[in-house]
Amino acid sequence: MSQLADDCFAHGEEMLTMAEALAILRQRATILAGDRIDRVPLSEAAGRILADDLAATLEVPAHDNSAVDGYALRHGDLADGEATRLTVVGRSAAGHPWSGTLDGGQAVRIFTGAVMPQGADAVVMQEDAQAEGDTVVVPPGLKPGANRRRMGEDSHQGDIVLPRGRRLKPQDLGLAASVGHARLPVYRRLRVAVFSTGDELQDPGQPLQRGAVYDANRHILGGLISGLGAEVSDLGILADRLEAVRTALAEAAGGHDLLITSGGVSVGDEDHVRTAVESLGNLHFWRLAIKPGRPLALGQVRGTAFVGLPGNPVAATVCFLRFARPLILGLAGCAELEPLHYRVAAGFSFEKKAGRREWLRARLVLDGGEPRVERFDRQGSGIINSLVQTDGLVEIPEAVTHLERGDAVDFLPFSEVVS
Ligand code: AMP
Ligand code: MG
Repeated sequence: MSQLADDCFAHGEEMLTMAEALAILRQRATILAGDRIDRVPLSEAAGRILADDLAATLEVPAHDNSAVDGYALRHGDLADGEATRLTVVGRSAAGHPWSGTLDGGQAVRIFTGAVMPQGADAVVMQEDAQAEGDTVVVPPGLKPGANRRRMGEDSHQGDIVLPRGRRLKPQDLGLAASVGHARLPVYRRLRVAVFSTGDELQDPGQPLQRGAVYDANRHILGGLISGLGAEVSDLGILADRLEAVRTALAEAAGGHDLLITSGGVSVGDEDHVRTAVESLGNLHFWRLAIKPGRPLALGQVRGTAFVGLPGNPVAATVCFLRFARPLILGLAGCAELEPLHYRVAAGFSFEKKAGRREWLRARLVLDGGEPRVERFDRQGSGIINSLVQTDGLVEIPEAVTHLERGDAVDFLPFSEVVS
């Protein structure tokens, strides 16, 4: 099994911006899943990460072919400014090419996708032509090369059509099939264990005890992680007892590439995750200039990477999406770590402190005018509804202190990062 360098998450005390933190993670958290490459059939490749550049094995299309139903002809046979009568000498349908060669004054009945006959260089659409017995009358004005698709116009043999590190989408699989691949080399799946921590947490299914809360984070995080193509082990709730946390983390370290916890990493007396991880490896608290959700705990448990997310569900989710997600993708071998953000108009005004990056949950409003985002009214870091009744996160950079209605803001739709 591959391993990260000892103590690769070590970091000093200074405050980090998101960009600085991501740059360090990108540099230190190298691929772990590269120690095994599977060759999987296309039907099993969606969401997997391509382990090698993929080259086209042939020209696509493999032959010049017709883009329409009509008549294939030699453009040089057509008269200038008047109609031309051609003799129809054959038929070329998709999958049934015509084997002859066109002579002067001849045409071949042809259908979409059918191979262009030898000698033919243009196709007149059947709607534009007049069939009369075994002849066809072609009106003037057809352009040279009309309605002909060229061999290789989609992919050329030897082209790299998909790069190593690509997380495979359905359209990628279509492209891979078109260039002749039945199986694709992909990295093994990353194995990620997820825990929640806290004596107050309870799984739903039984009446809630006094003082308890139902564990929400494991369900959010488990789904987000499996959406990234990793294998998730749901390892339940850890009680706030040092030995329990220690034993569970030590056991999980053996079979996983990454352990993720939420909660239990603030400085309160009940937070034993810190002590447990430190006793089994190392732990570093990165002081991040962000809201919600600092600090972020990063470390290793017996050589296995460890990420401790905040306990509050909104903070856990935001920190996951902006920090743990690129980390997981990088460890899994993915080359594209940053989700797409879109510039849209703010439908609200907002004041914030300089020097930290903030995320607001917001609804995207498409009511005919310019798209705009409306801020959810309850932004508390425990308000799970703010993740559900919205469409994504407005990300406000460090330097901004004031937003006016109509200002352009960066919007990260949940649909970009939640699958
Ligand atoms: P902590 O970081 O452990 O101090 O937790 C901060 C807040 O988040 C507390 O109110 C916890 O009850 C809450 N919390 C922690 N973990 C979870 C969880 N898995 N699901 C829901 N709420 C949680
Ligand atoms: Mg706790």
